Amino acid sequence: AKDHQVRVRFAPSPTGNLHVGGARTALFNWLYARKNGGKFILRIEDTDTARSTRASEEAMIRDLKWLGLDWDEGPDVGGGCGPYRQSERTNIYKAQVEKLVAAGKAYPCFCTDEELDAMKKEAEEKKLPPIYRGKWATATPEEVDEAKAKGLPYCYRFRVPPNQEIRISDLIRGEVAWNTDTLGDFVVLRSNGMPVYNFCVAVDDALMGITHVLRAEEHLPNTLRQMLIYQALGFAVPQFGHVSLILAPDKSKLSKRHGATSVGEFRNQGYLAPAMLNFLSLLGWNDGTEQEIFTVDELTSKFSLERITKSAAVFDKVKLGWM
Ligand code: GLU
Repeated sequence: AKDHQVRVRFAPSPTGNLHVGGARTALFNWLYARKNGGKFILRIEDTDTARSTRASEEAMIRDLKWLGLDWDEGPDVGGGCGPYRQSERTNIYKAQVEKLVAAGKAYPCFCTDEELDAMKKEAEEKKLPPIYRGKWATATPEEVDEAKAKGLPYCYRFRVPPNQEIRISDLIRGEVAWNTDTLGDFVVLRSNGMPVYNFCVAVDDALMGITHVLRAEEHLPNTLRQMLIYQALGFAVPQFGHVSLILAPDKSKLSKRHGATSVGEFRNQGYLAPAMLNFLSLLGWNDGTEQEIFTVDELTSKFSLERITKSAAVFDKVKLGWM
């Protein structure tokens, strides 16, 4: 990645339709890239094979294209670039797990489900956080060899450094800090050979040279694990901006009972893409004036992270009606 070039991504999990929340995240990233002459990357997070479908991916891409949110790079698919797919990058993640293991920053864990359940129960009884305190963190090489020789299944766990403060200066939320003691040694590679979600996200963001991770607030707790992975692998840390929730007009969580919430539903109702973009842009952003109708070009030139609101956005379809 070129120095100082803005590189952002939209990283949907293809487990359903493109909802207004996801579309807003995509739009903010796209506007930020376009405004700064940067790159916007589309990454399909489909490592959860039980929930991810190609149909959902295709529908999301159709909706992004309809909105005009085009991406700038990806694997060559003949005459254009496709999205990156995590399911096609398993070897990349495994190579990074091997690096951690070689550095002693991850270790094989042979605990069975029964043993893990017993640990969880014990932690509950002692009112301790439900985190891994198993024996494999301190196993000798001989013990590991013996377990491997028995053919026991094992995963790899990340060795969380004890009592360390991890901080970020979130572009929207401000200073956020965690203590690593709130976290147990977490799995990075499952016994079936599949890397876990947070590991893939951190490795991808680093290797793709992402400079700004702009995503929904619900992902803030994941940032601690991702920060530890950056740190352990010696990766440069991107800037984070966690965008507030979108609430229904009655301030409850936005859901189906509030009517249309996916981009496809609005398109089917006859809304036009520029109106939809305008509406999405105002879910948690404003330009500091009373202006409420913007063209895409205006949005691109006026967009700034400083004007993303810290409070939740309210989903008011009445506005979409008169746009
Ligand atoms: N795949 C996640 C989602 O669809 C996004 C993760 C991220 O942006 O870091 O919610």
